[in-house]
Amino acid sequence: LAKGAGKGRWRRYQAALHSAVLQRIEMRAALEQAVADLNFTVAYQPIVGVADGETVGFEALVRWRHPTLGMVSPDEFIDVAEETGLIEPIGDWVLQQAITMATAWPGTPYVSVNVSARQFRAPYFVDKVRKALAEACLPAERLMLEITERLLLRDDEQVWLDLTGLREMGVRIAIDDFGTGFSSLSYLQQVPIDVLKIDKTFTATVASSTRQQAIVDGIVRLAQTLNLEVVAEGIETEADRDLLRLIQCPYGQGYLYSQPLAPDEVAGWLRFEHDTAGAEIAAIAKR
Ligand code: C2E
Ligand code: MG
Ligand code: MG
Ligand code: MG
Repeated sequence: LAKGAGKGRWRRYQAALHSAVLQRIEMRAALEQAVADLNFTVAYQPIVGVADGETVGFEALVRWRHPTLGMVSPDEFIDVAEETGLIEPIGDWVLQQAITMATAWPGTPYVSVNVSARQFRAPYFVDKVRKALAEACLPAERLMLEITERLLLRDDEQVWLDLTGLREMGVRIAIDDFGTGFSSLSYLQQVPIDVLKIDKTFTATVASSTRQQAIVDGIVRLAQTLNLEVVAEGIETEADRDLLRLIQCPYGQGYLYSQPLAPDEVAGWLRFEHDTAGAEIAAIAKR
């Protein structure tokens, strides 16, 4: 009986494996088509001050507009895009879109764009960023690039030079999903970066135990010592936010504040916030 059950599991396993391979091949073809048709859109999630809730910037997050599946999350296709190299045209398009969009926003919020290791290492990446900023007339200070610890793992001089070049331009560099990588902490004192984004796995558990609080608190203190900004990702509850306030984590983003917004919702979000702030000031002035 046990043998039979084992066999059944194996067959099911094989079937799952087979379809996983097929799915990847199919996805690859579909993704190629999507790149040709530019069937993508970018959503923008507000990044806020944890103390006052005021929006300081937006993270640009790509979505695949699939003809039958609808909006497909990047978690489902970024890996295939990386393997196939399609991440380069997709990523460059997102960068262009994000920079152009940011010029139309009221006020001066920054836009933060995810850059994969492969895209970053591609020739002329820094030149592409410079050109995109110049063409849109967006000050470099309003652009942030999110890289991963993976990019910094190898001791790659060109990466180092490019990061330095971008920062000299005024572009800020963030390490995304901080705390989930394998790199040692010692690189942090040398690497040319500006911001740590605390991964949402830490934020999601910050309210659950004092151990988790200690970890997040440790990252925030470390960042302060190294003169780095901190953004906590994935703030979902008021309990998370209250603890991050206590820890004095300066910035955050998450569903508690807002889901990623469609491009045409961003201006409304900023104006609403402004009007609300305006009304509050007016109310205080009346008192
Ligand atoms: P990420 O850069 O760490 O982005 C944050 C992810 O967390 C986003 O998922 C966002 O929608 C989600 N999120 C925001 N608030 C919350 C929350 O309160 N709780 C939870 N559980 N999740 C929250 P999304 O949009 O599905 O993107 C997934 C990942 O795909 C991103 O993670 C990033 O690594 C990658 N990605 C997205 N856009 C791009 C892109 O244009 N280029 C590259 N190379 N990667 C991208
Ligand atoms: Mg990110
Ligand atoms: Mg992240
Ligand atoms: Mg991520």
